Amino acid sequence: MQEAMINRAKQLLADGTVNRVIGWKRGEFAYDITPAVFQSAEELDADFVFDDFTSANVSKYLVKESKKEGKILAFLKPCDTYSFNQLTKEHRVVRENVYIIGIPGGPKLDAEKIKAKGITGILGVKNENYTLKIDTIYGEETMPFYEAVLDKCASCKSKKHVVFDELIGEDGDVLESNRFEMVEKLENMTAQERYDFWRDQFSKCIRCNACRNVCPACTCEKCVFDNPNSGVENKAPADSFEENMFHIIRAFHVAGRCTDCGECSRVCPQNIPLHLLNRKFIKDINSLYGEYQAGEDTTSRAPLNDYKQDDCEASIVHERGVE
Ligand code: SF4
Ligand code: SF4
Ligand code: SF4
Repeated sequence: MQEAMINRAKQLLADGTVNRVIGWKRGEFAYDITPAVFQSAEELDADFVFDDFTSANVSKYLVKESKKEGKILAFLKPCDTYSFNQLTKEHRVVRENVYIIGIPGGPKLDAEKIKAKGITGILGVKNENYTLKIDTIYGEETMPFYEAVLDKCASCKSKKHVVFDELIGEDGDVLESNRFEMVEKLENMTAQERYDFWRDQFSKCIRCNACRNVCPACTCEKCVFDNPNSGVENKAPADSFEENMFHIIRAFHVAGRCTDCGECSRVCPQNIPLHLLNRKFIKDINSLYGEYQAGEDTTSRAPLNDYKQDDCEASIVHERGVE
C-alpha cells in the first residue's frame, strides 16, 4: 500500500495536479508516526510512511493547508473522510484545493497497549495470521493482534469513504458498530458511580490541550480556553471544578459536530477515554432528534442547528428519568 501511495503521489506532483502532499513520516520511534507535508518525489521516497501505526487523521491540517497556494493531495482513511466532510460543511476547508485519495483504514495499532504488556524498545511490527510479531532491541516478542488494536479502530463505525476524488483499494460499508456499549454501561450506573468514574478520569488531566488541538471539530480561530481573561487560559487545572469544566465545555462545543473520529482519546497522554463523553452526546442526539452522523454529508442540517416544530422539548430529559 505504501508503495502504491508514493507512486500515485509522485504522478500527481509530476503532472501538476497538486503541488504538495500531506501524509505521514516517522518520528523518534518506529511507532511514532506523525503528519507531514511533502513537496517532492525525493522527500516522499525518503520519509513517507504508511504502516500499522499510521493512525493520525490529517483532516484538521487541511484547515490551514487548503488555504495556501495550489492544490494539496491528502490521503484519507474512511474515518478521516467524515472529519473532512464536516470541515467542508462548516466552511473550514477549501474543498477545491484538496485532491483526496481514499485509502483503506485500520485496524491500526496502539503502541501503549504493546508497552502495557511489558514490551519495550519497539523497532517494528508484523501481523502474521493475527499474531503480532514485535521486533525489539531485546529480541522478538509476540502478542495477539487484536489486543494491540487502537480503541477507535476496535469500535469502527464505517469502512466507507464519504468523500474522495479517487481510491486506492476498495471502498467499504458503514458497519454495525458496538461503539455505544460502554456508554450504556455508564448510563446504567447510579449518578454517584458515574460521577466517581468521570472524576477518576478527569483528575488525571494535565491540560496539555492535545485533545483540543487534534480535534477536527475544534477549529475556532480564538478558543475560549485561550482567552487571557478567563482565568483558565492554558494552565493546569487548579481544582476539580476546572478539570470538569474544560471537558464539559469542550464536549458541548463539539456536540452535533463530533464525527466520533477517536483522535482525542488516541492522543491523550493520560489515557482518558474522552470519546465516551462525546459518544454520550451522539447517542442522546440520536435518541432525541433522530439518527444523525456528523460528517456523513455536506448538505444536511445538523440536529442542533436545525429547528422543527416537532422537536423534543427540554423537559423530555426529565421524562426519560435521567438521574
Ligand atoms: S489530552 Fe488528555 S491530559 Fe491533555 S488536556 Fe486532553 S484530556 Fe487532558
Ligand atoms: S471530540 Fe474527539 S472524537 Fe469527536 S471529533 Fe473531536 S477528536 Fe474526534
Ligand atoms: S474548545 Fe470550543 S472554543 Fe475551543 S476550539 Fe474547541 S470548539 Fe472552539
